[in-house]
Amino acid sequence: MPYLIKGVNDWQAAFEKAGFKNAIMAKMAPTKQEDSTWSLDDARNSAIVYKPSDIANASGPSISDPRSGEIMESHINWYHNIMELLRDWYFVQCSPNDPAARKMVFDDELMGELIRFVSSHEVGHTLGLRHNFGSSSTVPVENLRNKAWVEANGHTPSIMDYARFNYVAQPEDNIGRKGLFPRIGDYDNWAIEWGYRRFMEHGSPDAEKSHLNTWIIDKLKNRRLWWGDGEMNGDDSRNQTEDLGEDAMKASMYGIKNLQRIVPNLVQWTKEDNKDYAGLQQLYEQVSGQFQRYSAHVARNVGGIMLTPKMVEEAGPVYEIVPKAKQKEAVDFLNKNVFATPTWLINNDIFSKTGIVGTQSIGNIQSSALNRLMNIRTFDKLVDAESNLGNSAYSIMELLADLKKGIWSELATAKVSDVYRRNLQKAYVSTMSNMLNQQSSIAVVPGFTITVSGLSDRTDARSIIRAHIAGLRTELAGAGTRATDPISKFHFQDLADRLAKALDPNK
Ligand SMILES: [Zn+2]
Repeated sequence: MPYLIKGVNDWQAAFEKAGFKNAIMAKMAPTKQEDSTWSLDDARNSAIVYKPSDIANASGPSISDPRSGEIMESHINWYHNIMELLRDWYFVQCSPNDPAARKMVFDDELMGELIRFVSSHEVGHTLGLRHNFGSSSTVPVENLRNKAWVEANGHTPSIMDYARFNYVAQPEDNIGRKGLFPRIGDYDNWAIEWGYRRFMEHGSPDAEKSHLNTWIIDKLKNRRLWWGDGEMNGDDSRNQTEDLGEDAMKASMYGIKNLQRIVPNLVQWTKEDNKDYAGLQQLYEQVSGQFQRYSAHVARNVGGIMLTPKMVEEAGPVYEIVPKAKQKEAVDFLNKNVFATPTWLINNDIFSKTGIVGTQSIGNIQSSALNRLMNIRTFDKLVDAESNLGNSAYSIMELLADLKKGIWSELATAKVSDVYRRNLQKAYVSTMSNMLNQQSSIAVVPGFTITVSGLSDRTDARSIIRAHIAGLRTELAGAGTRATDPISKFHFQDLADRLAKALDPNK
């Protein structure tokens, strides 16, 4: 309870900057003896309401006057199991840096500070702030490893980001909790000032508009005050949830290093007296899930379109395509860290205690990365980029050639010695075949109509995929002939046959 209260009162500083003292303050609700008239249903009382529920979440809705936009009442829902969510996040992101996180049940002080941050985030919503998923992308990755800098500024300028914790920090950086936890930051202070400061010199809200707009343009010279949408637009590599820093490749590399520190210790750190291995299983799945997130952050760069909202008075483009070099770097990262078998995630001790199998956990991560790159939406975006930028765009042909270097490197030796790699190549063949042959269709479920769109017949994408499949089929058939070990031979021959069928489904 004291931490929930702190999370509310933490906003006082922002309101002081906007010209208000004691603007926001949390208190315990009075008991019946203290005030028999106090009620949660009274619209004058805004409250945080504890819900004894196993839902792992919290939310901060508010009710505003539709005529003026004035927020009248708010009611934060605080579900009990938000604590489990917080434990999981902090464990997989920060346990290499914070020894107190190397267990299943955190002590009250650590859990209290985690609760305080969520409390501040939810209160931010009730004050009118939207998510700012772009905020963390304004921070250079190396600053996240700079103890003095990150402890002074925090790892993201907004608590309204889904930036969770500083997973980039490495143990040798000796960064304390001040540099690992999110807090109300520069963006939040500015957003409150913009929203709440009174300008008596303007006679009406309409008269304020041009002043407010000029103010925004001036403030945006400071990148830390930037707001990036992540809810309406899923194409911007900067506006992602659960990510950190301006460069996903660098940030994810550090995040993976921390996961690699966790796996060998996982059995020990999740051990609880008189309990089974359910905790081990849950946290291993969290580690795999976090790895999948890191690779997804990188994959978003491919076909990425950056959206920078602007008023007409502001210079520069609103839509920009992620530079080609960065897209190539992303594919290279995935080749090296995801498609090359991530052997660090394979741990037979964990598998023997949980029943998890490596082919499944690694297979899921690899196919999810593959599907993020090889899908109709991404291909359409690449075709569009090429039509706008010509040769300076990253093309589908280049993407396929770059992926081939990573996923099909064994074609040269005609030997695939690793079951994970064979599974990955099979997944690639399925994905390509499906893309070529998926027709636009309309599925009707009672009450819903879902349109599943196939590859357009009117763009180059289909022609390129067909040519790619034909070329790959020939190479696979050749490798099948040259292969000397049986399993590689069967593998290549099978895949060559599957691709032949994809090219001519009626055969
Ligand atoms: Zn939120």
